[in-house]
Amino acid sequence: MSISEKEIINIDQTHVWHPYASFIDAPPVYPVESAQGCTLTLTDGRQLLDGMSSWWCTIHGYNHEVLNQAAKAQLDKMSHVMFGGLTHQPAAELAQLLVDITPKSLNKVFFSDSGSVAVEVAMKMAIQFWHSQGKPQKNKMLCLRNGYHGDTFGAMSVCDPVTGMHHLFNDNLIQHFFADAPVSGYNIEWDDRYIANFKSLMEDNHQQLAAVILEPIVQGAGGMRFYPPEYLRQVRQLCDQHGVLLIADEIATGFGRTGKLFACEHADIEPDILCLGKALTGGYMTMAATLCNDRISDGICRGEAGVFMHGPTFMGNPLAAATALASTRLLLSQDWQANIQRIESQLERGLAPCKDYPHVEDVRVMGAIGVVEMKAPVVMAEIQKAFMEEGVWIRPFGKLVYVMPPYVMTPDELDTLTSAMSRVLSRPELFQS
Ligand SMILES: *Cc1c(COP(=O)(O)O)cnc(C)c1O
Repeated sequence: MSISEKEIINIDQTHVWHPYASFIDAPPVYPVESAQGCTLTLTDGRQLLDGMSSWWCTIHGYNHEVLNQAAKAQLDKMSHVMFGGLTHQPAAELAQLLVDITPKSLNKVFFSDSGSVAVEVAMKMAIQFWHSQGKPQKNKMLCLRNGYHGDTFGAMSVCDPVTGMHHLFNDNLIQHFFADAPVSGYNIEWDDRYIANFKSLMEDNHQQLAAVILEPIVQGAGGMRFYPPEYLRQVRQLCDQHGVLLIADEIATGFGRTGKLFACEHADIEPDILCLGKALTGGYMTMAATLCNDRISDGICRGEAGVFMHGPTFMGNPLAAATALASTRLLLSQDWQANIQRIESQLERGLAPCKDYPHVEDVRVMGAIGVVEMKAPVVMAEIQKAFMEEGVWIRPFGKLVYVMPPYVMTPDELDTLTSAMSRVLSRPELFQS
């Protein structure tokens, strides 16, 4: 017999930390009983249409037959085995597939257990590479304001010091260099002024710089902003010109979300190091990967240490790898581009009415991402309730109300989602004054 809903909530509010949450005046939490397709079913029977894909992850929706089968088949063989000195078919096949679908020069794969760790690994790779080249002084990162790369110490140090939510820790973090946030707007007409600040930081500091780290084209949790491909092209050129590596964090943008399989493709550039996570397993399990090219791996392996200095306990977890393999194959087996376009045009149409609301600052859509930026922060408890009364699950932060639905969301469901947003966002009392 399972415990009651009341008991779940009671234990939860007494003992369980939630992301960026407090135990004092703990905000409400809603127990989920099960999930299917794009719908979450709560223990009280309420059903919510999920606009968040559990934070960019569940691209094929919940409880998907193909992913379930892959996980179950692997479960009957083994859930886990250490990766030191051992390997297995799911990790090998997944690595091959990732090498095949990511930019051409990336052909070495380091598996880890979460996005933040994939970022730590990428930063360590860059630093270890320069160490191996006899340039240990090249150990700083050039980062972008409004960037977000995770919550661990290394990752925190490359997040926007203000919007990255980590300013409390600033004294404990290694100080890196920050360029102005890229100009907002994918289609904006290019002007070389837009890269000037980045360029001068690069020119002044390249002797200390190991790498540039950025989220290509879409900055996620640090502001939900889209920027022009030309910016990314020029960053790549400046990296080459000044001998600085480029780390692309595609943990949020990877696997089709922006309309390209990987956002780097918008600018037709190849990073030296690439971070993947979130949608990698279709949202079933925690797994991430850091890919690099031969130059990086050769450098590291010919260097003083001779090995790359990292090795998580759950590296290459077979259950996660088998599911990731199934999820990625499932994505590639469909006309996913047409599908993302379908979602994009429907989000554009559905969110257009919000542009006329006086307290809306901006409405922007790219791929399967829809963002309404308000002029003032939301009143969280109130707006959450309002969305739930509409039967949708949308979790805003600050001034940003955004959706990134599972790719399997039907036109009718999308309509429900955007209509709910449009109605809720027309209510000024849900925003701070
Ligand atoms: C979510 C995210 C991370 C961190 O991933 P976790 O799995 O939460 O550690 C890093 N970079 C980007 C761009 C992300 O969106």
